[in-house]
Amino acid sequence: MNFPNTLSHKGGIISNMRGIVTEVMRFSLRDGPGIRTTVFLKGCNMACKWCHNPETLSLAPQLMTYPERCIFCFNCAHACKHGATVTEGFGAAARLAFYKEKCVDCGACADVCYTGARVMSGKEMSVDEVMAEVLQDTNYYRNSEGGITVSGGEATVQPEFTLAILEACKKAGIPTAIETNMYADWSVFERLIPALDLVMLDIKLFDDEAHRKWVGVGNGRVLENVKKITARLPTIIRTPVIPGVNDSAEEIGKIASFVKDLDNVEYYELLLYNPLGESKYQALGMENPFAGQKPQTGAERDALTKAAEACGKTVKVS
Ligand code: SF4
Ligand code: SF4
Repeated sequence: MNFPNTLSHKGGIISNMRGIVTEVMRFSLRDGPGIRTTVFLKGCNMACKWCHNPETLSLAPQLMTYPERCIFCFNCAHACKHGATVTEGFGAAARLAFYKEKCVDCGACADVCYTGARVMSGKEMSVDEVMAEVLQDTNYYRNSEGGITVSGGEATVQPEFTLAILEACKKAGIPTAIETNMYADWSVFERLIPALDLVMLDIKLFDDEAHRKWVGVGNGRVLENVKKITARLPTIIRTPVIPGVNDSAEEIGKIASFVKDLDNVEYYELLLYNPLGESKYQALGMENPFAGQKPQTGAERDALTKAAEACGKTVKVS
């Protein structure tokens, strides 16, 4: 049986399977224990209004523009066949114009932009190509008790590809993890479990209505899946703390009460608000509803930490 939402998998040779990847990040210290390689896949089945990686929301490759890096060579305007990037004016008055509504994200301009003013987010890679990068650091994984983490976007939105990467890592003796929002159908997790050593999962809000408002979908299935996965595998549970959304001791306390009854939780982690994704919204031409918000500090941070500690597990705040 194939997973739902899967990319096409026409070949019988698993290593030829291809997926859409935004980045393979080596030497990551944030995405699980030890030194890790994190494979960021494109595509998400939620739509968190505060998303720090908005370039991963859509499954399709997307153009990102950084005008401050432009040296006005006009290569991009020559390459664009869709009238989205054009030269306007003549001689010394010539300027570059970008009409986003005409852009079809073909990537031709990014191919000829050598300053990084035009870049594509998301490229097709095979499992072999991903593994060629992952296998370079096997000594580091071994010496630091690290491994590989498949992240996103959402790791389960390209489930066949994720499974193929995890299985290839297991075959190579590399410890595996995923970062997930737990919203996929349980059958997806059931398939992934044999190839997993650790699951890093988010519980963003406890209230179903609030979850629907801020994330785009309810959380009934998320909470059910969390109960099931914690019965089967070691987990790290995390809550991104977002100003005006869930940054109250009451909301964090509700999640902590839920976490209290779960097994196999290595720790519960609060991820304080991180404004780093803001430039990506500009590069994608998207509006960022949380622009200018600051991380929680001082007494606010202390109150949130205390509320989280009600879970009775180890608590981390970062
Ligand atoms: S190719 Fe890049 S550097 Fe050259 S004009 Fe276009 S955006 Fe600017
Ligand atoms: S991605 Fe394609 S359509 Fe969009 S501006 Fe670049 S060349 Fe033109």
